[in-house]
Amino acid sequence: MAVFKPEKAFLYGESLESLTASLAEAGHPAFRARQLCEWLYRKGAREYAAMSSLPLALRQWLEDNYTLQPASFVLAKAAGDVTEKLLLELGDGAYVETVILRAPEGDDAEEGARQTLCVSSQVGCAYGCKFCASGLDGWKRNLLAGEIIAQVMCAAAHIAQKRGGAQARTLSGIDNIVFMGMGEPLANFDNVVRAVEILHADWGLGLGARRITISTSGLAPQIRRLAEVPVQFRLAVSLHGATNQVRSAIMPVNNAYPLEELLPAIKAFNEKRGRMVTLEYILIEDVNDALSHAAALSDIARDLHAHVNLIPYNPVPDLVWKRPNLRRQKAFCEVLSRAKTSFTIRRQKGDDIDAACGQLRLRKQREKEALSGNGDAAQAASKA
Ligand code: SF4
Repeated sequence: MAVFKPEKAFLYGESLESLTASLAEAGHPAFRARQLCEWLYRKGAREYAAMSSLPLALRQWLEDNYTLQPASFVLAKAAGDVTEKLLLELGDGAYVETVILRAPEGDDAEEGARQTLCVSSQVGCAYGCKFCASGLDGWKRNLLAGEIIAQVMCAAAHIAQKRGGAQARTLSGIDNIVFMGMGEPLANFDNVVRAVEILHADWGLGLGARRITISTSGLAPQIRRLAEVPVQFRLAVSLHGATNQVRSAIMPVNNAYPLEELLPAIKAFNEKRGRMVTLEYILIEDVNDALSHAAALSDIARDLHAHVNLIPYNPVPDLVWKRPNLRRQKAFCEVLSRAKTSFTIRRQKGDDIDAACGQLRLRKQREKEALSGNGDAAQAASKA
């Protein structure tokens, strides 16, 4: 599977401009496009019948030509009050994960004060980072912009429903959206950028650009291309290794774009955008958690004027990697502190909900394959 062509186009993912053009072509007044965007992105209409300010003929035309819900809710798994993972099924039966993080980004704010939504950009992933569940079954396909927006709308509806609201209104208190779920966002460049534009636009979801973060495993040419996109989102780079030796051992992407290519691309992005980049660094025992690694990471971060986000590894059942104990985490942090490197260390969240990227989807996909009689998949499902 590579390109998914839905029977009918998705309404989510359409822009004011594209809707205006399509409506005009079908003989509907242009001003209806703005009303439609309002129903889609601001009022969170979940069915055409709810779009009461649109004439019946237009609603019928929309129903005949567009799919309103490209994703359906399958299940939610929560870890306490702080993390909730949603599993969604797409039109072709593929699954994606979307995670609501209710804890604040800093550890000193009030618990649950901030809601961050982590969205997926692809089904599976081709990049095969050794520590990640998303790449275990390879890449299936890119998500369309409408399927990315659908994750946001499903999460907003889910939050609203839990609060007792009948319908999602605006973003139901989602403060930040991060492209850090399943997939490499920059390998699905056009759909991700289109989704970002819809998230930010005044006719769209109206989310402040600084509240949107795109994360990449380090696709250097696309980072340079991203610098040209007008929306002022944030960039996070999954470094996870401060030397080529470590990085190549756990991230095959480093063979294509080693540090000599990646770091100048980040610098160029910085210079163009004037915005601090975040370096994500998953701490894995005996892989990248030595004090010498901390020193090398500090050098890179200071040279890039970047902030480091340390993430103690979330173990994945099929994989061998371990989280360093608290003493090792602390020692690593002390090296960064002494070098005056800007950093935070993320608290562990969601250990009991298959929280590592891609785990829940992998389990569900394997169960489905097992039910359809695939013997190997049945065995895998029992392990997942
Ligand atoms: S960490 Fe990101 S880029 Fe790497 S395999 Fe997982 S989803 Fe893909």
